Amino acid sequence: MAYLMMEKNRAKRNELLAAKIIKGLESRNMTGYHVHTAKEALEKALELIPEGGSVTHGGSASIAEIGLVKAIQKGNYNYIDRYAAPDKHAAELEAYDADVYLGSTNAITDDGILVNIDGNSNRVSAYAYGPKKVVLIVGMNKVTSDVDSALKRARNEAAVINVQRFGIDTPCAKTGSCMDCKSPDTICCQFLITRYSRHAGRIHVILVDEPLGF
Ligand code: SF4
Repeated sequence: MAYLMMEKNRAKRNELLAAKIIKGLESRNMTGYHVHTAKEALEKALELIPEGGSVTHGGSASIAEIGLVKAIQKGNYNYIDRYAAPDKHAAELEAYDADVYLGSTNAITDDGILVNIDGNSNRVSAYAYGPKKVVLIVGMNKVTSDVDSALKRARNEAAVINVQRFGIDTPCAKTGSCMDCKSPDTICCQFLITRYSRHAGRIHVILVDEPLGF
């Protein structure tokens, strides 16, 4: 009973918070949506991706978790697969001309600012410029109150889990928190703060109640 009440309160909180984020996104020339489940997130994402178009993505656990990568691979799309491409760099360059680029964000503020960090930086550069449409799947677990806390989340949570996931030898892999390293293997080379989109209709953010990514 107490659990059900807690979940009801969480749902109410998410409704209110998502409405605030969506309003913030709109004020920044971006578009937001709020769904409850991974299944609904997949349906909404597929609505936004025109069949026959070229689609690719950066590294993102969230898009895999909702089944979006598999759906694109199986569907009627021109899927640019940089992992399978003989020339990965060429595939990453091709992504800048894609119809749709998929991904998530390392953090989002409650007024709609996106914060991302990247090592190779193909992902943040494509978010910033190139693909005609960017569709981001974002669990409500990634919402923070301001840019400072978003950067802290990106560095102390997302980045640390990522280096552990890929077995990268950085100080945070041993300490569990960011040590502000300049290791050759650092995945924190470029920081992208998206506070406004020059192009209306380009960036779409699907907020999901189910926790996704990290
Ligand atoms: S220790 Fe280095 S790689 Fe790890 S989060 Fe900090 S800057 Fe990034």
